Amino acid sequence: MSSIAFIGLGNMGGPMAANLLKAGHSLTVFDLSQSAMQALAEQGAQCASTAEAAIDGAEVILSMLPAGKHVAGLYLGEAGLIAKAQKGTLILDCSTIDAETAREVGAAAEAAGLDMLDAPVSGGVKAAQAGTLAFMCGGSEAGFARAEKILAGMGKKIFHAGDHGAGQIAKMCNNMLLAVHMVGTAEALQLGLNNGLDASVLSEIMKNSSGDNWSLQNYNPVPGVMPATPASNDYQPGFMAQLMLKDLGLAMENSLKTQSAVPMGALARSLYASFAGKDGNAQRDFSAIIEMMQS
Ligand code: NAD
Repeated sequence: MSSIAFIGLGNMGGPMAANLLKAGHSLTVFDLSQSAMQALAEQGAQCASTAEAAIDGAEVILSMLPAGKHVAGLYLGEAGLIAKAQKGTLILDCSTIDAETAREVGAAAEAAGLDMLDAPVSGGVKAAQAGTLAFMCGGSEAGFARAEKILAGMGKKIFHAGDHGAGQIAKMCNNMLLAVHMVGTAEALQLGLNNGLDASVLSEIMKNSSGDNWSLQNYNPVPGVMPATPASNDYQPGFMAQLMLKDLGLAMENSLKTQSAVPMGALARSLYASFAGKDGNAQRDFSAIIEMMQS
């Protein structure tokens, strides 16, 4: 069992940290939110007053932060955790961020004699709670071998995509596809509703036909079709629309650099930009995009 510093206890980080405690690791946690730390303290974690204090004596540092600027701010520079960590520390950044920042932070860690992996996740809050996340890792073989044992406490499928940044590229491709099939699922269901069909019946038909996909199986955007989805809980996240917009922005920036054609991803980004720009939608679940199809 390892001594782990866990930084970022939001919708995803909170349940991930809880599962590491259940797996028997000892955890010191830090978040800007006191209430997020308090929830973990009640489950047996130690709380630290700064990120630097949290890594004192840690063999593993794990972070789950919103975006690249937060990750760069946490790890880089004289005051960053890479400069403060003890030799041999394993760093796992599970945030979804741009591949350039992941490569930069990974290289800085390597230069300081630390193993670091970008290890973004797929599966959402339900999978974070159930300990069934998928991890997509970028970094060295040796780092990956060490990381697997820790990640197994929070997930069921752990992939090694390649060197630093490769995990983020895999995650970027996956989330662009997620946005596209969520939008497609929402418009197909709304079309059925507009024709008088019952959304539950139509969902069941499509789940057993060629329109089947992850959004339909796990994350139906129509309220009442599935009991535990954000749609059935007033679109409370879940996965905030602003985070999906961030991820689609990463895909668009990368597509310009790599001259990749991403017409469906570009349209999905445009829809999410328009949706998240309206009052309060940025913090609502990304499946609420179905409201754009309702007149
Ligand atoms: P969130 O906003 O709920 O949580 C982020 C947490 O980080 C907050 O508690 C915040 O206080 C904390 N934080 C921010 N800056 C900090 C700092 N400098 N030091 C310490 N704590 C800090 O976000 P989330 O939904 O948990 O997502 C986290 C990451 O996981 C994002 O990159 C997101 O894209 C990705 N992700 C989210 C989901 C999902 O379904 N929510 C699924 C897969 C991946």
